[in-house]
Amino acid sequence: MKSIPTPYYLIDERKLLKNLKIIKRVREKSGAKSVLALKCFSTWAVFPLMRQYMDGTTSSGVYEARLGHDKFGKEVHAYSVGYSRDDVQQVARFADKIIFNSLSQLKAFGRFAQGKSIGVRVNPGFSFSHFDLADPARKFSRLGIRDNRELCEAAGLVKGVMFHFNCENDDIKNLSANIERIGRTYGWLITQMDWVSFGGGIFFTKPGYALEKFCDMLKRFSDTFNVQVYLEPGETAITGAGELVTTVLDVVRNETDIAIVDASTEAHMLDHLIYRTTARIVSPSQGKFKTMIAGRSCLAGDVFGTFALRTRLRPGSIVRIGDAAGYTMVKKNWFNGMPMPAIVVRRLNGRIEIVRRFSYHDFCAGLS
Ligand SMILES: *Cc1c(COP(=O)(O)O)cnc(C)c1O
Repeated sequence: MKSIPTPYYLIDERKLLKNLKIIKRVREKSGAKSVLALKCFSTWAVFPLMRQYMDGTTSSGVYEARLGHDKFGKEVHAYSVGYSRDDVQQVARFADKIIFNSLSQLKAFGRFAQGKSIGVRVNPGFSFSHFDLADPARKFSRLGIRDNRELCEAAGLVKGVMFHFNCENDDIKNLSANIERIGRTYGWLITQMDWVSFGGGIFFTKPGYALEKFCDMLKRFSDTFNVQVYLEPGETAITGAGELVTTVLDVVRNETDIAIVDASTEAHMLDHLIYRTTARIVSPSQGKFKTMIAGRSCLAGDVFGTFALRTRLRPGSIVRIGDAAGYTMVKKNWFNGMPMPAIVVRRLNGRIEIVRRFSYHDFCAGLS
């Protein structure tokens, strides 16, 4: 491991497999199919493993849909908040399901999706999210059809409906209540459909999650409405499977010790900046040495957090930052012209593979 230059994202297939086995179990016990949400994780080097446990992919844009088709295979669900006509025509070449965000898009472009299983997104008006920014039922939300008259009109034109209304929901009671509420409110619609998707954001791979209850609930829903249930796990599918491995470049002092690593929140783990969350440090482990860990971009607030660690960080120390698989590689950028972390995979058999390296030329090629 020491020979791989930092920074790099490390994906561990054994850790990934733990989640995948749970996903497969949910499929077997409840009948609910799972499609990977590519907007969270699109690192196709591990798709050969993931495709053995999942039913396909879902996407938020045209290129994701194409990637799902090219690199994952199986079912391709294509959704977008806004399609152009050209988008729909492109996506119709390789997607199995095309999901529109509004009645107007459905009416304008449904005819270009002939032969596909067409769906619409519904905004049920409630949700579970710790962040207003990521709350699909927030005030003025544009995500999905809200109006019942519009839904009635859409019902005759579609074969499926998608509800994405959770964000990191680990509360089975809340989820059960909300899925029951969906059944009560939209049962009339769902009985007319071939499929219903409950979207992503359900944290059912979390240790201790009430998996049996979860499966029973999904099965009951599917039986009641005679419908195929889908889940769209993103973070849930890959949680715990990735690290960002960095090296300390400098330690400076301004009232506290500040270790500067060869990566950045803004460029490599952007969500910590967006949601103002703190990173999880995997190594060094916890101890008594208090240090702030910060990125090397010029942004003053480029900070991973303040931690108490077992060792004192010095230039050359390795810092491994956890939870680095989801919403990281799909969002990374070239801010400050910083070297881009490589992508490294630890395979099931323990072999370490550097699957992608980036260079100055990639930075240059993204601009003109
Ligand atoms: C973001 C998103 C997902 C995946 O969400 P996670 O929180 O990563 O599980 C699934 N479906 C839709 C429609 C989404 O927008």
